[in-house]
Amino acid sequence: MKQLDVLIIGGGPIGIACGIEASKKGLQYLILEKGTLTNSLFNYPVNMTFFSTSEKLEMGNVPFMSLSNKPTRTEALEYYRRVADHYDLNIRLYEKVEKVVKQEDGFVITSSKADYLTKNIVISTGFYDLPNLMNVPGENLPKVSHYYKEPWPYVGQKIIVVGGGNSAVDVALETWRKGAEVTMVLKDASVDRSVKYWVLPDVENRIKEGSIKVYYNSSIKDIREKEVFIHTPDGEVTIENDFVLAMTGYKPNFALLEQIGVTLNLDAHSQPCYDQANQESNVKGVYLAGVVCGGLNTREFFIENSISHAVAIIEDISKKIS
Ligand SMILES: Cc1cc2nc3c(=O)[nH]c(=O)nc-3n(C[C@H](O)[C@H](O)[C@H](O)COP(=O)(O)OP(=O)(O)OC[C@H]3O[C@@H](n4cnc5c(N)ncnc54)[C@H](O)[C@@H]3O)c2cc1C
Repeated sequence: MKQLDVLIIGGGPIGIACGIEASKKGLQYLILEKGTLTNSLFNYPVNMTFFSTSEKLEMGNVPFMSLSNKPTRTEALEYYRRVADHYDLNIRLYEKVEKVVKQEDGFVITSSKADYLTKNIVISTGFYDLPNLMNVPGENLPKVSHYYKEPWPYVGQKIIVVGGGNSAVDVALETWRKGAEVTMVLKDASVDRSVKYWVLPDVENRIKEGSIKVYYNSSIKDIREKEVFIHTPDGEVTIENDFVLAMTGYKPNFALLEQIGVTLNLDAHSQPCYDQANQESNVKGVYLAGVVCGGLNTREFFIENSISHAVAIIEDISKKIS
């Protein structure tokens, strides 16, 4: 079996950026992606618009043109597909990395389809596969979801949106505009101040006029088929309910990192240990890129500010190999 210079785990925007840099440097590389290309973006809400402008999401000197200055999910899916196509990236889709074993001079990677030998690994596995659970009874009922695609299933339904960040606010507004009866349950005393500045007044005004109901400083206690029990500062409240959309955020899959031996800093949002100069973790030859670098602080890194990880990593690997 031929040894690769670098195997990149995850075909999201940052895995693609790593592939581009590796291809530019003439490295023997492979990207393994467990789903479709940019699988996380594919799973985002159908009507979502990025907060970044298109040029901030560009990579590999390929211009990103979108109809308005902030691209939609569909435009981003098409852009990254074209970029991967343009660079003829060596990428295998629907192939999940399941195991990594360190050897004296590299690693053996076992995927759902094959084994590979590689000198270096980039972990760019993102954060969108594991939701932050509420850990309450009834969370596993079919009417509860931690993901949201589009408003149509919720027309005329009584829904609870849990959370007060961008995703929760987008879901509350979109479903309310399609005729859902929306109640928001927020653990804080207000909607998150980091909500997109052009959306914040919209949700605050809908709450003020009573179109969207809200329980601040509150949490879900119990979810049943027809109702939900909520802890509020004024005591427990029971409301009728058809669907719960828990927009409580997501977290990286730490199992793979821990299996490889990457140390997590439990005092700092479980942030994995790595050298900020070259993104190499405490395990030599294992590099971290993209949102996974922030640990549980999934807002620290996003596409815009992670594209540079790809450059730093591939520069370091090229130097080692030459
Ligand atoms: C609603 C929403 C809006 C956003 N808007 C913006 C924005 O405007 N601007 C911005 O910069 N960022 C934005 N972000 C954040 C941004 O999408 C993420 O930070 C970005 O996707 C990170 O890229 P990534 O490649 O690190 O991870 P991801 O895009 O999550 O890619 C990781 C990939 O790894 C794959 N994978 C995971 N485990 C394995 C495995 N074991 N084997 C093989 N493959 C695996 C996954 O399937 C996935 O495709 C937004 C996020 C959300 C949720």
